[in-house]
Amino acid sequence: MTIREKHPGDQTTYRCPVCNHGLTHEPPMPRFDAPCSECGCHIWCRLRLSSGETVLEALPGRTPEPWDVDQVVESLIRRNAVTRVMMDLGRLDLVDSAFVARLLGMQKRIRASGGHLLLCGLCPVVREMFEHLRLDRAFEIVDQEETSAD
Ligand SMILES: [Zn+2]
Repeated sequence: MTIREKHPGDQTTYRCPVCNHGLTHEPPMPRFDAPCSECGCHIWCRLRLSSGETVLEALPGRTPEPWDVDQVVESLIRRNAVTRVMMDLGRLDLVDSAFVARLLGMQKRIRASGGHLLLCGLCPVVREMFEHLRLDRAFEIVDQEETSAD
């Protein structure tokens, strides 16, 4: 499999969160489960590198298994990138309980390693669900841009 090179001048690149292998830029990966061509892991999120900040971007329709989450966390720990892990949920229109459970598990592991998991980019539906389930207390949710509640 050939990975398309990022375009010169393009500031955003995407990488496999497990092995740091470059991923194709937009258009997004196919909807079906496409593993990383390098390490074969299930890509349920991808590393987004732009302007020096590293963000994990959750991909829609790809609820990870617990071991998928473990792979990502272990990779972050290996790279000393666990201190402040930003997870962008901006691409998700909704999240199911399994996904939330995985996030909780991920947070637990990151905290156990002395780090923080921050969530950002929650769309109104997702944010409402988090508040309804009191998950806004369980997670550290940050606003990237201030949007007043209607
Ligand atoms: Zn990989």
